Amino acid sequence: MIDERLIRADATKLRELEKVMQEQEHAELLYPIDMKDICIASGAVEGICDAVASLTAGKKVLLVTGPIAFTDNADRKVKERVLELLKTKYDVEWFVVREPDNSIVHCTPENAALVAEHFAGVDCVVGIGGGTMCDLCKYSTYTANHDNPLPLIIVQSALSVNAFSDNSSVMLFSGVKRTVHSRYPNILIIDTDIVAAAPAEMNVSGYGDLIATWTAPVDWYLGNVLGMASGFHTAPSDMIRTQCEELLENSAKLAAGDSKVLYDLANVLTLSGLSMGLADQSSPASGSEHVMSHLIDMASKVRKTGICYHGTQVAVSGINSCIIWDYLLNEFDPKSIDVDKCYPTLEEMEPKVRAAFDWLDDTHSAANECWSDYQKKLTKWHQNKEKFKAFLENFDEFKKTVAPWVKKPEYIAKCMHEANAPCRYSVLNYPVDAKTATWAMNNCHLMRNRFSVIDLLNYCGIWNEEFVQKIIARADSMDAGL
Ligand SMILES: [Zn+2]
Repeated sequence: MIDERLIRADATKLRELEKVMQEQEHAELLYPIDMKDICIASGAVEGICDAVASLTAGKKVLLVTGPIAFTDNADRKVKERVLELLKTKYDVEWFVVREPDNSIVHCTPENAALVAEHFAGVDCVVGIGGGTMCDLCKYSTYTANHDNPLPLIIVQSALSVNAFSDNSSVMLFSGVKRTVHSRYPNILIIDTDIVAAAPAEMNVSGYGDLIATWTAPVDWYLGNVLGMASGFHTAPSDMIRTQCEELLENSAKLAAGDSKVLYDLANVLTLSGLSMGLADQSSPASGSEHVMSHLIDMASKVRKTGICYHGTQVAVSGINSCIIWDYLLNEFDPKSIDVDKCYPTLEEMEPKVRAAFDWLDDTHSAANECWSDYQKKLTKWHQNKEKFKAFLENFDEFKKTVAPWVKKPEYIAKCMHEANAPCRYSVLNYPVDAKTATWAMNNCHLMRNRFSVIDLLNYCGIWNEEFVQKIIARADSMDAGL
């Protein structure tokens, strides 16, 4: 039985949530939420000075934003409004992060260093923006002082991703996306007047990020059963699954701009971020669907295109991952597997990993980075052979456990259509061509250390180009996929 208090979790009642978590069985696996407050309300941004005062008695505030202007639903300029409010009580410096060629700002260590150059004498950092700006503020303050980072308040500009309320940052290192540990914002402000005015495709992106709820936790559980993951606990996902289900049911209302559903999206999305913090890893909300999306991002530089809205790309990949899970639970035959043939050597896999990523840059840095991470996974896979054997023997029990945690891909695609969420890579805000999307699907398991259902199928000799083509065909039957 799932704790009723988890089913109706409320992101704005942090201390209550913390208490519920402490009372769970195996609570020692859950990490504290190191945030002071989360505010989701109309006009929430008006409390910005009180928020700063609750964190510091100091008077110097650094305001960090990207270059793009945006307004709330009363057409007020958001950044200027926050600046005006802060200036009534504080000495404010406003730093705008820009790329040298004025292209879309990326979350790179170089940009984080630019932000950190402004930290001298500052008492509190206020970041306004989307996921990138939030991650830059988290990462820069954390790397400047791990033990005692500057107080940080984030004003969220859209319900675009779940990562506002977690303690990690997605960084671009040498062109490769990596999730690294950073810190929580002390206070997160989600002003519904601001997020309601965000472009619809950005809020649909947050909705899309939540599609991972139906695949990432099962990937994590699978990894745990096979000895390939650590720290698994059901509470982080139990806390969002029911409300996420309600959100799917309300997909058409979200598309119509229903304010109650928008509030619910804000709550569930924030809880999803907290689920990663509670687990102290992104596994509860990032599995095979995210890694497909990461590969498409990695290819964007070579393709000379922008990076799509994270959640919309994740959701299209999420349909693929739902198809893969549906295969595992309904077609996979554990008796057909010859265990001894499931262990490729490092020497066999290295050329495959390099061939998958070498074309991304002249210096081989992406391929080097991926191989260094992948070989850890392969080594671990070899070390846990007994667990794989036990998994095959107890496959029916495994299926029974995970059945309530997955959804049929057809249902997910139907809901996404109702939400006006893009269901095909080719209609994302930077259209992804069939060749790139197919490459990402074929090779996504080769990118990182984290284990997913795709690794399992790959080691079992099932995952190949033909299998990917079958996924593409099934997605196509739902008006989704390429
Ligand atoms: Zn995500």
